Amino acid sequence: AEEVGGGDKEVVREYFNKSGFERWKKIYGETEDVNRVQRDIRLGHSKTVENTLLMLKDEGSLQGVTVCDAGCGTGSLSIPLAKEGAIVSASDISAAMVAEAQKQAKEQLVASGDRPAPVIPKFVVKDLESLDGKYDTVICLDVLIHYPQSKADGMIAHLASLANNRLILSFAPKTFYYDLLKRVGELFPGPSKATRAYLHSEADVERALRNAGWKIRKRGLITTQFYFANLIEAVPM
Ligand code: SAM
Repeated sequence: AEEVGGGDKEVVREYFNKSGFERWKKIYGETEDVNRVQRDIRLGHSKTVENTLLMLKDEGSLQGVTVCDAGCGTGSLSIPLAKEGAIVSASDISAAMVAEAQKQAKEQLVASGDRPAPVIPKFVVKDLESLDGKYDTVICLDVLIHYPQSKADGMIAHLASLANNRLILSFAPKTFYYDLLKRVGELFPGPSKATRAYLHSEADVERALRNAGWKIRKRGLITTQFYFANLIEAVPM
């Protein structure tokens, strides 16, 4: 029953242009008007961004490296990447998200005394399935959660086809504990839970990567009370 038809993408787009936009802009922001759960998710997500930057910098400077940030949201990753000197192509299915990311980038990526202004990311409204081009690195954080594995397989293959050297993905892991937590959440749905969440097993993601000719080089798990993410870095086999 998990694998529903073609409706997911339209529902997701609509959500992230309306109520989901307001909800996630708040969670990814810095204001105080968040509840306990939202604050916890904000913390977990910021760790995912932080660990992604560490994974990237581990392999050397990001100066001049081309990065595709697929499903960029409000720019939580794109903006720090630009600060590191990366040439960022950021995109999202939601026009509202892209507008917000663009606004924040303009505010935050300014020249300061000793250094010139970083290159502002290029933002476009586009679903990741229709992205093209080639990038040194492709990154897609916390997007697969909106799609069942049957769709995620194709998304992973497409993202891999855009990357020359590395692909970084985060997804909510299908572990027993989280599965249970999610089931409990479905029994008591809150008003702000407007879209459904799909969990992915690391084995399924690894298989999708392998079919595309990629293998996992690094893996990490980020957990807070209400936020769970597997963060993986893949490279060509
Ligand atoms: N990656 C960002 C981050 O970690 O800060 C945002 C994560 S947010 C939970 C999920 C984002 O994925 C939303 O901005 C949503 O609009 C976007 N999204 C969902 N489906 C997408 C698709 N098929 N193609 C591109 N973006 C998509």
